[in-house]
Amino acid sequence: MHTALYIAGAILALWMTGSLIRHFKNKNRAVRVTVGNCTGCGACLRRCNHRVLEMANDGQSRHIFVKYPDRCTGCGGCVPKCKFNALETVFVSDIG
Ligand code: SF4
Ligand code: SF4
Repeated sequence: MHTALYIAGAILALWMTGSLIRHFKNKNRAVRVTVGNCTGCGACLRRCNHRVLEMANDGQSRHIFVKYPDRCTGCGGCVPKCKFNALETVFVSDIG
C-alpha cells in the first residue's frame, strides 16, 4: 500500500517539476495569429488548455484571435495543430 503511494507521489512530483520547467522556459514567449491565414477551422481551440484563443466572427469570416494573452504560457502546443500557418510563438517583446 505504501509503495503505491510513494510511486504516485513520485509521479506527481515529476509531473509538477516538468510543468514548472516548461512554464519558466517559455515565459518570454507567446502565441501570435496571422489572421489572413486563418480559416476558422477551430482545431487550435481544442488544444489550448488555458483558453487563450477565441473565435471571432466579423460577419464576413471567422478567425482566431488572442483573447487572453496573459494566460498564454508560450508552450506552442497550438502551433502544430494549425495546418494553415496561422499560428506561431514569438518573443513577447516582438508582439506589437
Ligand atoms: S502557446 Fe500554448 S498556452 Fe499559448 S495559446 Fe498556444 S496552446 Fe495556448
Ligand atoms: S487551427 Fe489555424 S486555421 Fe484553424 S482556427 Fe486555429 S489558427 Fe485558424
